Amino acid sequence: MSDYTELKEKLFYTQKNGLLKEDISVEVEEFSNGYKDFLGASKTERLCVKKSLEILKKAGFSEFSYGKEYKAGDRVFINNRGKALAIAVIGQKTVDNGTRIAAAHIDSPRLDLKPNPLYEDSELALFKTHYYGGIKKYQWTTVPLALHGVFCKKDGTTVEVSIGEDENEPCFVVTDLLPHLAAAQYKRPAGELIRGEELNVLIGSRPFLDDEGSELVKLNILKMLNEKYGIVEEDFLSAELECVPAGKPRDVGFDLSMIGSYGHDDRVCAYPCLMAAVDAKTPEYTVISILADKEEVGSDGNTGLNSAFLEQFIGFLAEMQGVNKDIALCNSKCLSADVNAAFDPTFPDVMEKKNAACINYGAVITKYTGARGKGDTSDASAEFVAFIRKILDENNVIWQTGELGKVDLGGGGTVAKYIANLGVDVVDLGVPVLSMHAPFEVVSKLDVYMTYKAVKALFQN
Ligand code: MN
Ligand code: MN
Repeated sequence: MSDYTELKEKLFYTQKNGLLKEDISVEVEEFSNGYKDFLGASKTERLCVKKSLEILKKAGFSEFSYGKEYKAGDRVFINNRGKALAIAVIGQKTVDNGTRIAAAHIDSPRLDLKPNPLYEDSELALFKTHYYGGIKKYQWTTVPLALHGVFCKKDGTTVEVSIGEDENEPCFVVTDLLPHLAAAQYKRPAGELIRGEELNVLIGSRPFLDDEGSELVKLNILKMLNEKYGIVEEDFLSAELECVPAGKPRDVGFDLSMIGSYGHDDRVCAYPCLMAAVDAKTPEYTVISILADKEEVGSDGNTGLNSAFLEQFIGFLAEMQGVNKDIALCNSKCLSADVNAAFDPTFPDVMEKKNAACINYGAVITKYTGARGKGDTSDASAEFVAFIRKILDENNVIWQTGELGKVDLGGGGTVAKYIANLGVDVVDLGVPVLSMHAPFEVVSKLDVYMTYKAVKALFQN
């Protein structure tokens, strides 16, 4: 080796495609299959909690009971209103020695039905929607949609709705204008190509058989809903119904190296957090996995992480052990497990190549997110990033760093800042995604598996 090569190897920071490193394709494929199964069943935050509880109960976790004494190795969870979960495996050390936290979110962008959604126009029945999270609205037209959620009735009962995933069930759709008549539509700015109030979901066209009366299509739909779910139109007022792209996750590419699906952001990190907790036996430090709601709309509300949810949970554990909650928080370490944008060769201009995350380069550490000069973010400390770097390398995790696009081109946020504000050391780590927030997002199987290995590494250190 020449002096030049030797010195360069020693001094330069170079990253390599993870698929060119050692062959771990069997483990990666196995983990991907588990993830695809999880993701296909987790189309909404409520369904994701349901699926996660199924996995947790099988793995010996039970509902946390306030006042009960738990010992090292005990496995508990708190179900926050069916939309968020706090999961813990009690450590050998008391929580004032710090905990190890992995936090992902399980809500994804979608079309929510308005409180009074059902109407008939020109003998078609439709639902009015209010989109949830950041979407490119035009992407949500002309794709098959499923409907999931709940009607909560005045008598205290809840009726679950889940229709459109199975090929034998009907689906729904937002219509768009044919190109022949779109000359005026094309003149709108791209962000308004489809406007919020144009995201109306087509749900029926058959009139109730009668010679008189108006709104016969709407009447027929309500008659069917009444027969199937026992609801009347007023029950929509206390419902949460979400339209999401229909269908299961699928492999992408001739080489099957990627997974395409709705809702990777952020269930692709939630699954690694969940499985790392399931794998924890009797950890040194208490490990906590948080599956949070409401991240896509700013984490506000009692199921989001800008609430007392996590702080209270750690408080319960501290109280049980007779130690101080705030000391527990200050000594805790956290991976805010969320996705970042993957470099897309079709749109290279938005990325600064030296600091962009790439498909198959492993879990991506994002030191800060934010916008307008690192505003609205938690910029992880150098000390903490050094600690994470060390444990990832020691545990053979393939990882890379990323930034959310070029400076001043846009930006975004994660739950990291809310956890950092509690006094916890935290950095973002997750999976790079292509077409983020689209009805069909793409991730690499290797990156998903490496995110799981990264969370495991934190839980063991
Ligand atoms: Mn996210
Ligand atoms: Mn997102």
